[in-house]
Amino acid sequence: MTPKHDEKVDIAIIGGGLVGASLGCALAALVEGARLRVAVIEAAPLLPQRAEPWQPSFDARASAIAGGSARHFASLGVWERMAEMAAPIRTIHVSERGRLGVTRLRAAELGVEALGHVIPNAWMGRVLHGRLSELPLAWHCPARVEAIHPVAEGHRLQLSDGSELEAGLTVLADGGRSGLKERLGIESHERPYDQVALIASVEVSRPHEGVAYERFTPAGPIALLPLQGQAMELVWTHERGQEERRLALSDGDFLAELQQAFGDRAGHFRRVGRRHAYPLSLITARETARPGLAVLGNAAHALHPVAGQGFNLALRGVMDLVAAIETGIERDQRPGSSAVLQDFEARRDADRGNVIRFSDGLIRLFGLDLPLLSHARAAGLVGLNLTGPLRRGLARRAMGLER
Ligand SMILES: Cc1cc2nc3c(=O)[nH]c(=O)nc-3n(C[C@H](O)[C@H](O)[C@H](O)COP(=O)(O)OP(=O)(O)OC[C@H]3O[C@@H](n4cnc5c(N)ncnc54)[C@H](O)[C@@H]3O)c2cc1C
Repeated sequence: MTPKHDEKVDIAIIGGGLVGASLGCALAALVEGARLRVAVIEAAPLLPQRAEPWQPSFDARASAIAGGSARHFASLGVWERMAEMAAPIRTIHVSERGRLGVTRLRAAELGVEALGHVIPNAWMGRVLHGRLSELPLAWHCPARVEAIHPVAEGHRLQLSDGSELEAGLTVLADGGRSGLKERLGIESHERPYDQVALIASVEVSRPHEGVAYERFTPAGPIALLPLQGQAMELVWTHERGQEERRLALSDGDFLAELQQAFGDRAGHFRRVGRRHAYPLSLITARETARPGLAVLGNAAHALHPVAGQGFNLALRGVMDLVAAIETGIERDQRPGSSAVLQDFEARRDADRGNVIRFSDGLIRLFGLDLPLLSHARAAGLVGLNLTGPLRRGLARRAMGLER
């Protein structure tokens, strides 16, 4: 096919999902100041969500957003709009089925208004895409990057719409499922958890008052996050295969089983939205930067969602990449140069390792069904009530709200 057009950019972002769109917004000052030419390529057509007013869908997936992420969004100028659909987390309640130990962490104890916020993903996407549309960047959507080849100073990308792009820095923010990473020879380490997360919105009979619940059961953890109104986002972990029966249940039977598994600490479950299943693995790319290439978001690391860390970690990656690019520009280094990408790696290394180890460790600790360990865990949770700093650390990190 004859290329539709041939474009040269400083940075090409493959994927305009939460991470790629955040990166586009974080590059705003450099794009608006004509310091960088940036292209974003997104395969999926944007949802017809431009109509006003926006109605939060009862089925929407939502994410727990840490205070640090809110501050990053504020620095991108998008927090005020994000906050319109955000539900504050005022208390975190951690418990274990069959054990008495419960630990609670309240925002008031820490002198803060909220421990974090829960925001529908679709709303975050809409706000980020709205900001992107104001920027003078090349937006290829819907268009899929079909091939990527290294060239002298960067990569050449072939798009499904027939155009070709040459980019000094290519950022892989494609969620990790497009096969591009593998075609570049980047291997990933994958360890399946043999678990599937069943996600749904549920409505509870009484106001949740901003309580987020994390409950550990022998079959895996259950998280319940507050949304605006009386809705909550359910993340219910199942042993692989066990979720199929629950997906097929009538709403009434599903709600009864959820009530049985979760108890009545959140009130009565009255309504459930569409259920979605996500098989869970820990996937980490063995390489996240090389000259001309950076890997971000799920393409770099897919974590167990119950710890609510994935996007928060990814957003810190976005901010670190932009900081490394800005430092590079001050030093007259190209965004795709090895100096900039080494700087990016140095900034990311410890944070990424710590979060991956923490969320994986949490799942393993609470997933082991050994009697002695169960006692230790219960004692741990009770003990956490006694030892403030440790308890705060666990509860905040377990909800992905630590940074
Ligand atoms: C059930 C669940 C619950 C979660 N809850 C939380 C939470 O509470 N808090 C939190 O911090 N994190 C959470 N996460 C993690 C969070 O959802 C991910 O970190 C985040 O979605 C990753 O975004 P991404 O942009 O990297 O990938 P994606 O969202 O997968 O986006 C990738 C984009 O790239 C596009 N694309 C793919 N291939 C191509 C191509 N070849 N060319 C062009 N475009 C392409 C896709 O269309 C897509 O839009 C959760 C994850 C799951 C599964």
